[in-house]
Amino acid sequence: MLDVSGLSAGYGQIEVLHGLTFTVPKGQVVTLIGSNGAGKTTTMRALSGMIKPRAGSIKLNGREIGGLESHDVARTGLAHSPEGRRVFPTLSVEDNLTLGAFPRLTGSRPKGDVNADRERAYTLFPRLRERRTQLAGTLSGGEQQMLAMGRALMLRPEILLLDEPSMGLAPKLVEEVFRIIRRLKEEQVTMLLVEQFAMAALGVADHAYVLENGRIRFQGPAAQLRNDPQVRAAYLGGG
Ligand code: ATP
Repeated sequence: MLDVSGLSAGYGQIEVLHGLTFTVPKGQVVTLIGSNGAGKTTTMRALSGMIKPRAGSIKLNGREIGGLESHDVARTGLAHSPEGRRVFPTLSVEDNLTLGAFPRLTGSRPKGDVNADRERAYTLFPRLRERRTQLAGTLSGGEQQMLAMGRALMLRPEILLLDEPSMGLAPKLVEEVFRIIRRLKEEQVTMLLVEQFAMAALGVADHAYVLENGRIRFQGPAAQLRNDPQVRAAYLGGG
């Protein structure tokens, strides 16, 4: 499904990622964990075309997508729900969702029924349905986070990149986000997940990669890393 090989990327003079190699198999959830500044967000940005890879290859279903502009990456079926609350603030909740389907409609992927997909997003996030006519910029932080996730799902992604979906959310909403991730997993949505709550991420993921200073330090089945004393001490606060 997603095959990344020797990926290097950075900002200006600084190289942040030094040759990452990892895969996300179809229908699985893979998580990237690592301390602050390890390069998790930078990896997500490089995959979705927000920054240009400097070396290496990114293949989605065998097709090279490294170096494509982000809107062209989206058309291939890679959806990115970025860190922070990236919604269109002056558009309604409903219009934000509808726009999420746009790259699918202009690409070669199945068009499908946008209204039905919006209904599905509203079923996953009932709060968004209640606020469908509200301007996205006036939503609470948690609601904007949900909207960003809902919008990414409107692409009917081949793979969904979730960068810190629980960031800034109250504990009850964090639980809600993980419940939704589990539900998407049951629906066989392929996901790459970055989370501050590494234990929870390892609880839902099939496989995990530990990033350190832009390199993969360990990898393994998520359940195994969750129980590895060294990994727990270094990255999971022993919790
Ligand atoms: P966190 O868990 O703190 O979000 P992360 O693993 O996601 O960390 P990144 O955000 O990928 O880490 O950052 C990796 C490195 O790249 C850091 O040293 C950071 O300062 C640097 N960096 C990130 N964004 C930029 C940018 N826009 N310009 C320059 N350097 C950046």
